Amino acid sequence: MRRLERLRLALEQENIPALLVTGPANRLYLSGFTGESGYLLVTRSGRWLLTDGRFVEQAREEAPAFEIVRVGRDPWKALGEAVARAGVDEVYVEEEHLTVAAYRRLKEAVGAWPRRVVLKRARGVVEKLRLTKEGAEIEVLRQAISIADRAFDHILPYLRPGVRERDIALELEYFMRREGAGGAAFPTIVASGPRSALPHGVAGERRLAPGDLVVLDFGAVCGGYHSDLTRTVALGPVTPEQRRVYDKVRTAQSLALEGLRAGVPGREVDARARSYLEEAGFKENFSHGLGHGVGLEVHEGPSLSPGAEEPLEAGMVVTVEPGVYIAGWGGVRIEDVALVAPEGCRVLSQATREFLVL
Ligand code: ZN
Ligand code: ZN
Repeated sequence: MRRLERLRLALEQENIPALLVTGPANRLYLSGFTGESGYLLVTRSGRWLLTDGRFVEQAREEAPAFEIVRVGRDPWKALGEAVARAGVDEVYVEEEHLTVAAYRRLKEAVGAWPRRVVLKRARGVVEKLRLTKEGAEIEVLRQAISIADRAFDHILPYLRPGVRERDIALELEYFMRREGAGGAAFPTIVASGPRSALPHGVAGERRLAPGDLVVLDFGAVCGGYHSDLTRTVALGPVTPEQRRVYDKVRTAQSLALEGLRAGVPGREVDARARSYLEEAGFKENFSHGLGHGVGLEVHEGPSLSPGAEEPLEAGMVVTVEPGVYIAGWGGVRIEDVALVAPEGCRVLSQATREFLVL
């Protein structure tokens, strides 16, 4: 399996003899195991998947590259036995994916293990492998993106004065499930009227009214992969200012997409949209980063933001989502998912970016 081979090389490079993988997305990425409980121990020559009785059979089916170990009431006891068999003296834990309580219990357990082992901390080892997507991952992402695209078309007739934001969110989620999504990628955002100025205005009780801008930000999960789509529409009549803000955000997004390609640091892509919006007078109104990676998690690396120094690589999948938010007035955000390529990018979302006045 290519992922495990890449991990082996990474462990070698970083001088990590054994990695305890407890992050759910990392566990799924490396093993294929979709159950919600369990952890992996990966050394340069061995792989163990430790899980409890509910998941042992499923793990055997889904993770053939791993030796499946059933854990009892004390989840760390079986790990001690696997570590002894692996013959390692150091075990690195994923510091971002172990609670303080779990780490403390693990430290206590280590004292009773048959082999003396030192615990160390690692950061982002598997996340780094996940930054660039394989062909099969892009295929699944495309399915998740396509469901969101179709959900946008589906929801347009529902966007009428008097309809509650919550009901729009429910209809979006129901449609996506019916189209094959495992669920919504995150709590659906339907932010209308003045609430559209909230970058993360989760759907509430407000009813749509004439003249509203409505920000819809939603996504589907397919095979563990997430889509993330934002569109802003208006209920007529619209004001010239609403149209102007929409045009500025749309142009900012186009400029960013034009600059998105392998070799460019994320901050440069961010700057293309940000400097344009600043010149348009919206310096204070674009209050978040331009985009984020999307995959097994809806927010993952790489980041497109002012601090992102690392050059982007072909095969990365990122959102591009400039927004302008004006308190008391409303907001506009447009978000698409794009695949980074050597000479540019391919926008994967297909939903129209025209300013729709309903
Ligand atoms: Zn989004
Ligand atoms: Zn996003």
